[in-house]
Amino acid sequence: MTRQTPSVVRTRFAPSPTGFLHLGGARTALFSWAYARHHRGVFVLRIEDTDVERSSQQAVDAIIDSMAWLGMQPDEGPFYQMQRMDRYRAVLAGMLQAGTAYHCYCSPEEVEAMREAARARGDKPRYDGTWRPEPGKVLPPIPEGRKPVIRFKNPQGGATAWNDLIKGPISFDNTELDDLIIARPDGTPTYNFCVVVDDMDMRITHVLRGDDHVNNTPRQINILRALGATLPEYGHVPMILGPDGQKLSKRHGAVNVMEYDKQGYLPEAMVNYLARLGWSHGDDELFTREQLVQWFDADHLSKSASQWDPKKLNWVNAHYIRQMPETELAERVAPRIAARGGNPQAVDLPAALALLKDRAETLEQLADGAMLFCAPYQSASAELAEQHLTPAAREVLAAFAAQAQNTEWTKEGIAALIKTVLAERGLKMPQLAIPLRVAVTGRAQTPAVDAVLALLGKQAVLARLEAI
Ligand code: GLU
Repeated sequence: MTRQTPSVVRTRFAPSPTGFLHLGGARTALFSWAYARHHRGVFVLRIEDTDVERSSQQAVDAIIDSMAWLGMQPDEGPFYQMQRMDRYRAVLAGMLQAGTAYHCYCSPEEVEAMREAARARGDKPRYDGTWRPEPGKVLPPIPEGRKPVIRFKNPQGGATAWNDLIKGPISFDNTELDDLIIARPDGTPTYNFCVVVDDMDMRITHVLRGDDHVNNTPRQINILRALGATLPEYGHVPMILGPDGQKLSKRHGAVNVMEYDKQGYLPEAMVNYLARLGWSHGDDELFTREQLVQWFDADHLSKSASQWDPKKLNWVNAHYIRQMPETELAERVAPRIAARGGNPQAVDLPAALALLKDRAETLEQLADGAMLFCAPYQSASAELAEQHLTPAAREVLAAFAAQAQNTEWTKEGIAALIKTVLAERGLKMPQLAIPLRVAVTGRAQTPAVDAVLALLGKQAVLARLEAI
């Protein structure tokens, strides 16, 4: 399906800063970001902070940090709704003047009574239009001392419809939508109204957001029309489910994006994985950020909910670890080694990571593995020593140490030396390799022993052999 794209695409991410950026929000942001980038458009960040009780600067910072980590810098913003109150008030005043909004003096109790009455009749609970001005209608007297709310004069007949970029045609009968409160008695604008004014002022052309907002869309469209604004296109992204088919939540593991940084996931992998949750490009599972931008369009956004799959995320992360240059990997792993009390400079870290990276799914696993080289040496436990450093084994180790003096200390040199020692004694590989590991690293299992010894350096290896 081809759609006409306006000359400059403008998308926005509009989080409510009530906590960290969760996976669902990050994916919505990613889709909006990728859509803007694909069309060489503009990506706007708007902070919807009108719920003053629940909003915090700390949450704003956390959201911005998470977006930066994922590489989704906004081109404009952050704009804060709380800083736009004057603008909302001005638009409200204009609507009152134009007759597209009106004061309603019903008390909350009266509105509740109307709803109750509608329910009793078997109708949908709704405001009954008492204060809605109509030609020739006489409005009730204004109750003394009561502050009015402002209601939007919603069209009464027909339907409000749009062709959703993801879900296809959606239509609501206008009778389903009563006259929405757009300002409270104290004059503060309500949620849907702020969104509308912002989308209009920020000239948003494409709204991609969670499908929990589908019910807001017809109301927002009607208000935009009343304001004479150009309508954006809307695309409502289905939610992410946990592996058990329930809405993804803490029960399924971490939902805070930054928790994945802590756990050793690469932002490259997160972006790749998140993009595939609800979007596809043929059978491609692995793609770069550039490919995502090049390929991302609304036609391949999925109508159905997607499922969080930690195993697949690990697989994607392992891929990015494997294909990352070791020097870059070293930069990312070094702080994690330091956090474990290790010294990342104790070894040629890129070389050590080259040895470890094929088996690692996360940076944390890599750091654990690298501690073999970066932690202070700890000799084998008495148990391991007893099992593997038998008198026979010690004799072989001594022979190895003696010949090591004249060996060129490379992986190949060490491999040749091991072979020689084994051949001289008619032994099999494990009869030297395991005691060597235990004596030199304190562990019975390590990556290839020749490579490990090469990285540790001849001096350290001989000192440790000496000390057993
Ligand atoms: N602030 C809303 C939210 O966090 C998003 C509103 C929108 O995208 O229109 O769910």
